[in-house]
Amino acid sequence: MTIFWFCIPAFGHTNPTIEVVRELVRRGHQIRYYSFADFREKIEGAGADFVPCDAYLPGLDAQAEARLRRVSTTEMSVQAFETTRRMDGMLADDVSRYRPDLIVSDSACFWGKLTAEKFRLPLVCSTTTFAFNQYSSQYMKYSPAELADMILGLPRLNRALAKLRPLGYRVKSALDLVRNQNDTNTIVYTSARFQPCAETFDAAHYRFVGPSVKPTEPDRAGNPRPRIYISLGTVVNSHPEFYKNCIAALRDENVDVLISCGRAFDPAVLAPLPENVRVEPYVDQMRVLARSDLFITHCGMNSASEGLYLGVPELLFPLSGEQQAVARRVCEMGAGRMLTKAEAAQPEAIRRSVRELLSDERARSAAAQMRQDFLSCSGPSGAADFIESLLP
Ligand code: UDP
Repeated sequence: MTIFWFCIPAFGHTNPTIEVVRELVRRGHQIRYYSFADFREKIEGAGADFVPCDAYLPGLDAQAEARLRRVSTTEMSVQAFETTRRMDGMLADDVSRYRPDLIVSDSACFWGKLTAEKFRLPLVCSTTTFAFNQYSSQYMKYSPAELADMILGLPRLNRALAKLRPLGYRVKSALDLVRNQNDTNTIVYTSARFQPCAETFDAAHYRFVGPSVKPTEPDRAGNPRPRIYISLGTVVNSHPEFYKNCIAALRDENVDVLISCGRAFDPAVLAPLPENVRVEPYVDQMRVLARSDLFITHCGMNSASEGLYLGVPELLFPLSGEQQAVARRVCEMGAGRMLTKAEAAQPEAIRRSVRELLSDERARSAAAQMRQDFLSCSGPSGAADFIESLLP
């Protein structure tokens, strides 16, 4: 069977799909994966046909770039509608040429979802965050700036939407597109236990397959002293002040610290480094987490899940509404504690939180329990079974 797979240009949304794609290819299906140059190697490595879509991304002016850096939901949605408009002709040609049996689209990938709708093809939604409906979205806590962005951006959003309707897209509102609908077949890369309000999602249409991670064993036994790993992910990770505060907090502690600081600024601004702190632009996070005793994380869904999968307690520093939801759930599971913005600005408060969490047996055992929960999920083969069951 032929499957069109769509994803937005983000590692956090692409990575969890790779093993599912590999499994479907192994079972003999042809996957055309519409993505972007940065992800080509991974996608082709999984055996899919990579379709580059970089040329369809709208060019950004300085204002739009600044808004995207602030993770403006309005800007992301307007850009996604514009990308859909630009891809329309190419996708119409591809649908008639390759005749896909089914479309898998990331939950935030408007052009994938809208293509399924326009051509009345079966859709499977691939959700790398929690699934958000009217109940679970209560877990997100938006800042006043995020709320203002969404409300003030509505007229712009409606104008972008209006341009799509003449092309045959019957989309009512951006919210309808973003929300997880109960009657849409949906894969969620987490466990039912970790998903907030899991019971409010229709069991016939939802599969909570667990985090899609490379099978990895914890490897902490030989650590001479506790290892702390710090990362704010790959998207909004340009927070040199935060890393500086962490370094000041931990330089005289009996711990080893590794910071993955991203590529948005020159790591030299963090120098001189004490002997117990190492800084890298990017690391093999699963390998690092396997050896870590504590993870200071921005609570991206993937990072938080990878930490729990490896049984690592987490000090939670969420930066967006969605990351707030993840952080709150980790706290409810007992596997971490929150670092407020005010605490994050004070090395003394960071040090206190780290000390408390490192000696918190209950958090360690809750994280170990999360590992067992994730290991018991059906994983990529469960996701592939679900997709196959929906093929015509
Ligand atoms: N990641 C990595 N090395 C790094 C930083 C991040 O491999 O140095 C990976 C991490 O393992 C995770 C993804 O990048 O799979 C980040 O996704 P997440 O949802 O946590 O955050 P985002 O980057 O989307 O904010």
